[in-house]
Amino acid sequence: MRPIAPLFLAALILTGSLAAASPVVIAHRGASGYLPEHTLEAAAHAHALGADFIEQDLVMSRDNVLVVLHDIHLDSTTNVARIFPARARADGHFYAVDFAWHELKTLSVNERIDRQTGHRVYPDRYPLQPGPFRLCTLEEQIGLIQGLNQSTGRNVGIYPEIKAPSWHAKEGKDLGTALLALLERTGYNAPAARVFVQCFEAAELKRLRFELGTKLPLIQLIGLASGKDPAAGYKAMLTPAGLAEIASYADGIGPHLGNVLSDFGRPEGPRISSLAAEARALGLHVHPYTFRADKLPAGAPSMASLIRWGVEGTGIDGLFTDHPDLAVATIREMMLSRPRPLVLPQAPTR
Ligand code: CA
Repeated sequence: MRPIAPLFLAALILTGSLAAASPVVIAHRGASGYLPEHTLEAAAHAHALGADFIEQDLVMSRDNVLVVLHDIHLDSTTNVARIFPARARADGHFYAVDFAWHELKTLSVNERIDRQTGHRVYPDRYPLQPGPFRLCTLEEQIGLIQGLNQSTGRNVGIYPEIKAPSWHAKEGKDLGTALLALLERTGYNAPAARVFVQCFEAAELKRLRFELGTKLPLIQLIGLASGKDPAAGYKAMLTPAGLAEIASYADGIGPHLGNVLSDFGRPEGPRISSLAAEARALGLHVHPYTFRADKLPAGAPSMASLIRWGVEGTGIDGLFTDHPDLAVATIREMMLSRPRPLVLPQAPTR
């Protein structure tokens, strides 16, 4: 990626090509900075904290239920090893796809643990003590969000992610078709619906668009070019030609934050890549992940500065965050301090 040309960015801002509207705050796995990820409690809290969208990662149970879960296995966020000790595969993992939904819903959900070290991934978050937390289905979570939308008068959207579709296909599972059917049934069936569908695998997004014919907004997730899976093709996606290709089947990108901003320790501020500006110029949304107050990139002084750099420096129009309240507060401050056109009172007409 080339460094962004300052004049190009200035021109984009002056012509209003960058998001004039407030960037959207996407609660990453719910308000996962405060409650165990992907639980109904985390979704309800994200709604209360002012998120514009709430994210749901999706896997499938043995009996074809779409379950809100980040990993294809249950090891790191549930007590599956205690409840079903004999159900691991040969590799030691307990896969959600090996369980029926009535079994999955008996599991307790806990804060994320690194199974290799046995330590909590985020030590200052919700305690590990047994709590009331359970897995939920996508349908249950949609019902909760729509119920809260009605009782609060807000219109919070959903942001489902199809996890590992090619792995699921080998297991005989088709998440994309099931997701589109559920979205149709629950009212997310028009291009303007309050939903984004996201996936790391380009082939799945193309299948949704061209084979399954969805008109819903699609987001191509992009990991770091230096990431562990070179076959994923992120490096090619990050080039101008790659972005043009994405624009042919998707409506936006969800890049790793490091693809947009990096080198936070520099006295002159972080390095800003040309990615967001190039994508916005193609009409693509740019929603990077993940803004975490308790795991800032090295050298970043605060969550607020990170958000300001992202929104003012790169022109992103949304962001994934574990702490939606902090993002909402910073963005609100930024919007209030933006210069507004002077409107003179009109003389009363007689
Ligand atoms: Ca996700």
